[in-house]
Amino acid sequence: MEHIQQMVSFIRDQYKTDQFIPLHEPRFRGNEKKYLNDTIDSTFVSSVGSYVNQFENMMEDITGAAKAVAVVNGTSSLQVALRLAGVQPGDEVITQALSFIATANAIAYNNASPIFLDVDLDTMGLSPKAVEAFLEEFGEIRDNGCFNKSTGKKIAACMPMHTFGFPVHMDELLEICSKWNIPVVEDSAESLGSYYKGKHTGTLGLLGGFSFNGNKTVTCGGGGSIVTNDVELARHAKYLTTTAKKPHPYEFFHDELGYNFRMPNLNAALACAQLEQLNTFIEDKRSLALAYSELFKSLGIRFRQEIPDTKANYWLMCVELENKIERENFLKLTNEQGIMTRPIWTLTYRLPMYEHCQRDAQTNAEFLEERIVNIPSSVR
Ligand SMILES: *Cc1c(COP(=O)(O)O)cnc(C)c1O
Repeated sequence: MEHIQQMVSFIRDQYKTDQFIPLHEPRFRGNEKKYLNDTIDSTFVSSVGSYVNQFENMMEDITGAAKAVAVVNGTSSLQVALRLAGVQPGDEVITQALSFIATANAIAYNNASPIFLDVDLDTMGLSPKAVEAFLEEFGEIRDNGCFNKSTGKKIAACMPMHTFGFPVHMDELLEICSKWNIPVVEDSAESLGSYYKGKHTGTLGLLGGFSFNGNKTVTCGGGGSIVTNDVELARHAKYLTTTAKKPHPYEFFHDELGYNFRMPNLNAALACAQLEQLNTFIEDKRSLALAYSELFKSLGIRFRQEIPDTKANYWLMCVELENKIERENFLKLTNEQGIMTRPIWTLTYRLPMYEHCQRDAQTNAEFLEERIVNIPSSVR
């Protein structure tokens, strides 16, 4: 395929290498070593230290959320955010099947079950229309929340995910969820630096969760952050993720089942140095996206771009191919030449742990599952 050769040389040109080109690799070009050395010199490498506080302040500045709480990874940020939104064992949570496994797992860790609803074709994230249709058919509002008529269980939360950093249609989703009395927790793990109508993703719902895993836009090895505008929820988030210990100079008394989900100061130091470079990273990714869009236009391949009213961080860039055969060809030819490309995730309800979960027709999710492929997206 002629156009794949053109794409391969374009990508090699961007990254100026003949070696293997991964999907997303971190860049450490700022104060990373300096801040890491600080933590070692100070001996504060573990769960207490000034970088943890600094990281939380930086996340508040960047997202505009009233409060940010540092945690050990993105998955745990979502697990705790759901619990704080009121999810209890036996409840159900509406989410999308087109996502990384952590979205459904965070629900299951609360002993709740996901209900998988379809995504929109334009955002690849949870579809407000699908949520509305489901609730019209199965929802029932009672004194203590919204219930699922077909299972008798409480629908305790709704968790949209901003796929690859492209924001979900949040206004429409928030309106429907508020009508049905369902709190929204955003899986914004992939969308640090993405905005919906000028507001940072993760801050539109009741709570949001971010990831700082090695393949994300900004990494600290492993890490996460809960954000919320509800100061009381934030206080509780900090308390639960730091073992729920009553403050006391020397006695240990824990009055709730908490977690050791603390982010070590070592990781927070790395996160601070990386967050200082967030704007430069995103500028570079957006200019790469622009270059890709021109290339793919000339090749007649559909490159995914941000939609009106949103600003995407272009975490993982992607193309939409004609069908499954084209997709297989594309994956084979690029990977053979040392350019890493990867299909979007297998829909979560195909996995053994989630086979039994309730879901709708998934027309759009299955369409995208067969066609979307990620391409190298690292900062150059
Ligand atoms: C990366 C990611 C997470 C979880 O992040 P970890 O830090 O790896 O636990 C959750 N949800 C989505 C959609 C992600 O991409």
